[in-house]
Amino acid sequence: MSGFAVIGGSQAYDLLSRGAIHGKRLGPRKTPFGPSQPIYVIQVDSQATAQPIEFLFLSRHGEGGYETSAPFVNYRANIYALKDMGVNRIIAWSGPGAINPSYKVGQFVVVDDLIDETQNRQSTFFEKGGLGFIRQSPVFCPALRGLLVEVLKGQGLDPSDKGVYVCTQGPRLETPAEIKKFASYGGELVGMTLVPEVFLARELEMCYAALCYVSNYAEGVVKREFKAGELFEGLSSQEDKLAVAGAVAQFPNIILEAARRLHMESSDYVAGTSPLTQSMDSIECPCQASMERYRREGRIGGDWRRWIKK
Ligand SMILES: [Zn+2]
Repeated sequence: MSGFAVIGGSQAYDLLSRGAIHGKRLGPRKTPFGPSQPIYVIQVDSQATAQPIEFLFLSRHGEGGYETSAPFVNYRANIYALKDMGVNRIIAWSGPGAINPSYKVGQFVVVDDLIDETQNRQSTFFEKGGLGFIRQSPVFCPALRGLLVEVLKGQGLDPSDKGVYVCTQGPRLETPAEIKKFASYGGELVGMTLVPEVFLARELEMCYAALCYVSNYAEGVVKREFKAGELFEGLSSQEDKLAVAGAVAQFPNIILEAARRLHMESSDYVAGTSPLTQSMDSIECPCQASMERYRREGRIGGDWRRWIKK
């Protein structure tokens, strides 16, 4: 196992059902927070290794459709389950709306900052024990973000390497005035899923980066007629839908290439020559030492499962 996992967003079930992403289904994993979403092992052929590279895949909203909407995803169970299976790096995908009109629908954005507008989500593993007072800059793993941007450019895509993601509670969409408010304080994209996932990953010292594709323009950014019975009641145009389908079709190639590169970087790490893993050791990637202060104080030990007291 490469220690790498992908959390698929709202189009993941389509890719699974069409066979664009396929692998062995391991099923849900039991955790102290309830069962996770079903986990798959994906295999990727690699010329550089005799054995196929393996990584884990989990569809955030379910396997058969949009079964679990964003506020009701069991984020703690999903992140716990991945950690429990040896994962230390996660790439998650999400299809937010654009608040900043300079983004194009279908464009990839490797977001670099976040504003949390969710309400009442279970956003920490540490209900007891006084742990979790953790710095959030950088929010997303800089090393994984860099790798994602390289992969996207290598595939001839034109990603944006930064963006401020506003995470709302949902499942409803935002009002025009809310979007104006988010824009006024620097929000550029609006979605419902990266919180608390990114914060939970940091609590368990996992690297986490998000691959966003712009699904539509947020309410009020461009003029759209109300159309009953259509996706987002007309907020998404026919052109937008085509652009999104084009972006989603790229996902299998992007994640397979990211898995290959991560595997190579991990192999190089043994030899101590990898730029990615060297940066993992430096201040550029704080993710895997986020609990170091508590470790030094003797408040936590080596077994991360015992950090969590319910
Ligand atoms: Zn990291």
